Amino acid sequence: MSENDLTLGAREVPLGGLRGLTVHRTLPQRGFPTVGAWCFVDHFGPTDHSMAVLPHPHTGLQTVTWPLAGEIRHRDSLGSDVVLKPGELNLMTSGDGVSHSEFSVGDPGAPMHGIQLWVALPSGARTGAAGFEHHPDLPVAHGDGWTATVLLGEVAGAASPATTYTPIVGAELRVGPGWSTVPLRTDFEHAILAVDGGAEIDGEPVAHRELRYLAPGRSEVALHVPTDTTLLLIGGEPFEEELVMWWNFIGRSHEDIQDARDDWQRAAERFGHVDGHGTQVIPAPPLPEVRLTPRRRSVT
Ligand code: MN
Repeated sequence: MSENDLTLGAREVPLGGLRGLTVHRTLPQRGFPTVGAWCFVDHFGPTDHSMAVLPHPHTGLQTVTWPLAGEIRHRDSLGSDVVLKPGELNLMTSGDGVSHSEFSVGDPGAPMHGIQLWVALPSGARTGAAGFEHHPDLPVAHGDGWTATVLLGEVAGAASPATTYTPIVGAELRVGPGWSTVPLRTDFEHAILAVDGGAEIDGEPVAHRELRYLAPGRSEVALHVPTDTTLLLIGGEPFEEELVMWWNFIGRSHEDIQDARDDWQRAAERFGHVDGHGTQVIPAPPLPEVRLTPRRRSVT
């Protein structure tokens, strides 16, 4: 264990709408914006509430959507229209601008459970083209007492086909009862989310829904669980660019965010149009009175 490791608790955030989903957010935290380029971790469910998120915009990031139960219909301004099922990955790259909607499909009241994450795009990619990928069949790495479905990057020789812009890893770990050891890259920082139950991570008890941060410099992590447990591993090279994050936008300055907000409010070409919702969109909230400033890590 490193003295820089720490446990990040989840806060509950309503996603809006009557009977809307409440998500458990472990990233970003005050004073702790990123793990590698990962800058947003929302865990939702298990719940019988459904997802109903009207068209809304993004800039400067990739959205990574990973359902564990329930099916989600994704539509976007690139013309994509995909039903995402458990075990499948949706990866949307916003570049300079994209918009999308997400709705539960299937049996009303069927349980929903999943994780949605954001990856910050580096300079260059963040003002580049938008893109969407649906990966129904991801590689699985096997170790002693664990398997890893690789969403982004590579684990133990199993490499995801998903497009990435920074050195990064993301994987769903399924761990059997007892001890197991999962290899890590020493140049990466990592974090592990306790998705469906608690776990001991390098000897530290981590409760269900908490995120355990692991500082760079380790080649493996020791896990101990009492029963079959699902965890989410994220990591990457520490992201050095300072991010200004507000609502669904990531930029580098207050002006970047202001421009994105103005463009969305006036339905600029930049964000395109998501078919199937008429003129319904989620309007941007008002900007705060104060200037938006970069988020920096101050928690150690
Ligand atoms: Mn979104």
